[in-house]
Amino acid sequence: MRKITFTTPISDLWSVGRSTASKLKKLGLKTAEDLLYHFPHRYEDYSQTMPISELKAGTTATTRGTIELIQNKRSPRKRMIITEAIVADGTESIRCVWFRQPFLTRLLKTGDEVFLSGKIEISYLTLQFTNPAYEKVRKDQIHTGRLVPIYPATEKLTQKQIRFLTKLVLPLAKKVQDPLPAEIIKRQKLLSQVKALEEIHFPSSSKIAIKARERLKFDELFLLQLYALRIKKDIEQTRAVSVQFAEEETKDFAANLPFTLTAAQKKSGWTIIKDLARPHPMNRLLQGDVGSGKTVVAALAILNTALAGYQSTFLAPTEILAKQHFETLTKLFKNSKIKTALFTRSYHQTTLKDKLSKKQVLEIIRDGKIPLIVGTHALIQEDVEFKNLALVIIDEQHRFGVNQRKSLCEKSGDQETSPHLLSMTATPIPRSLALTVYGDLDLSIIDELPAGRKKILTRLVDPKNREKAYDFIRKEITQGRQIFVICPLIEESDKLGVKSVEQEYEKLTKEVFPDLKIGFLHGKLKSQEKEKTMKLFYARETDILVSTSVVEVGVDIPNASIMMIESAERFGLAQLHQFRGRVGRSKHQSYCFLFTENPSGTTHERLLALVNSNDGFALAEKDLELRGPGEMYGSIQSGFMPSLKIAQITDHTILEKAREEARNLIEKSPHLAQYPLLQEKIKGFEKRVHLE
Ligand code: ADP
Ligand code: MG
Repeated sequence: MRKITFTTPISDLWSVGRSTASKLKKLGLKTAEDLLYHFPHRYEDYSQTMPISELKAGTTATTRGTIELIQNKRSPRKRMIITEAIVADGTESIRCVWFRQPFLTRLLKTGDEVFLSGKIEISYLTLQFTNPAYEKVRKDQIHTGRLVPIYPATEKLTQKQIRFLTKLVLPLAKKVQDPLPAEIIKRQKLLSQVKALEEIHFPSSSKIAIKARERLKFDELFLLQLYALRIKKDIEQTRAVSVQFAEEETKDFAANLPFTLTAAQKKSGWTIIKDLARPHPMNRLLQGDVGSGKTVVAALAILNTALAGYQSTFLAPTEILAKQHFETLTKLFKNSKIKTALFTRSYHQTTLKDKLSKKQVLEIIRDGKIPLIVGTHALIQEDVEFKNLALVIIDEQHRFGVNQRKSLCEKSGDQETSPHLLSMTATPIPRSLALTVYGDLDLSIIDELPAGRKKILTRLVDPKNREKAYDFIRKEITQGRQIFVICPLIEESDKLGVKSVEQEYEKLTKEVFPDLKIGFLHGKLKSQEKEKTMKLFYARETDILVSTSVVEVGVDIPNASIMMIESAERFGLAQLHQFRGRVGRSKHQSYCFLFTENPSGTTHERLLALVNSNDGFALAEKDLELRGPGEMYGSIQSGFMPSLKIAQITDHTILEKAREEARNLIEKSPHLAQYPLLQEKIKGFEKRVHLE
């Protein structure tokens, strides 16, 4: 056989047929190196062997003995081949049977010494191994008689196949150059990468398996941090326009607001203003629970930027939100000279009333006549050119990918400088996750809600109380309030019991509230239809809005007092918390009713967490714990969320250590000049992270 190198295609490995290769490819495994870095997620402990005389029925055990007899038989009734063997070890002998594996008599012969692992049963009054894992005794075992690796998601590949192939490529581990500087390995008491690779697959003890895992997790988190800190360094070395603080005007603006800024708003506003004054781009994430008042903080930044003579752009994830922000900001700035433009696929305007052509607005943006442009992705996709863009604000930033941010920065109208970037999110992100996912960003947190907000009362409603909930809703509507009904799906599907907007709309209009005005909203509607529906709801022309998650972020209807969520188990806690934040935006007592048709234990626990807590951060931690980061952020963060192979977001301790070492190293060697291996790894990373 040819010598195996890192780049040897899996299909060239011994015994790998085309179908196996294509299954491996589905797991993302194409080369020998991929296999080497495909780690088991747990082990079966077959390391303790027991003499046959001590085996007991009903237990799982491993033993070692010699085959005294092996033969195939046909089962009497079913036409099935049974392989039968007697294995003895000097203390005792035991019968083994395997079903439908006639080839065994070719692999195992009388006289062979074997390990057997598996469940021991009683059959015809004697002990018997049924379908045990087996392996001939040799210098080093891979399937039995040791800690046996179990690999994740196997696409119908057997564990045995994967183990066999891994063993085949394992000698490559010796050739791996350790990317970590020796001093870090020493300081953090880590295994060498060579050792870690060998031990993670075929550990010599469970203790060392843990060390191996620790080392490989460290590598992953360290590189992630190093990557983030490299970006951070780059940003620090990039120039941006320095926006001077317009103290007078800022104070005036704040004083003329219809409310007093909270301490947290002032603090984050001030931090942002200081960031803007620096000659390097701000790269900040502003986190604040729904309703915490992020928009006005952004307005402070826009105000200062405009007064300094530069443009800002405010990006929202949907047209509805862009429109709403446009209206809010236009109103906020109505007493100043700051004019706002709206640019989305379907809206092109510069005042609340006018409707301009796309071309007209593009021209206005290019001429720099208007200092604030609110819009959607369209601002990135279309031929927009700014005169002098100095500030980019991204609302609910998880909807935007890294590349989109980049291309916006490239439209700034000035090759020398890069705009300041303020991302805003209401998705509370636990610190560990924030560090992992947004390691390059500075964080500001608005951790208090404006005074006087009433607690939203949340109830998990038993299906038998549905009628009562409808009665309550009717009462609220009679008192002038409005209601949201959220469903996971747009139309009925074969997913049993999962509610859809179309079905619920139908039911509510025909059966439950035939006398009330009901609207519906979902992502498949044309934007004019969406706009019309939203307008009617804003204007209190409709009482109930049945919608999918499109109303999730930002939508501001202060008069709405009930958020009713159907099939609530289909949503994550963070998302449910977002929905809940759509109500409770005024002086009216507000409610959130959760319905589920599938009250399993964990669903119940999750939904109860929402009933018992109004704290977005606590809920995010809980979600992380119950569903894991993949579930929680997997879909919304794609592009940001680097796929961690072995580390977990919950590996706090390793993460902190990795971050600290990464920081040290970057301080010492900002460009990693002495660390070509690390440079190379980070490049590979960049490719992965930027693939959206
Ligand atoms: P979010 O952080 O969810 O984006 P918004 O910026 O939409 O929150 O603000 C929610 C509501 O609270 C808006 O109607 C806004 O005018 C109001 N608001 C913002 N700051 C304050 C404050 N300090 N006091 C009272 N109301 C405020
Ligand atoms: Mg908002």
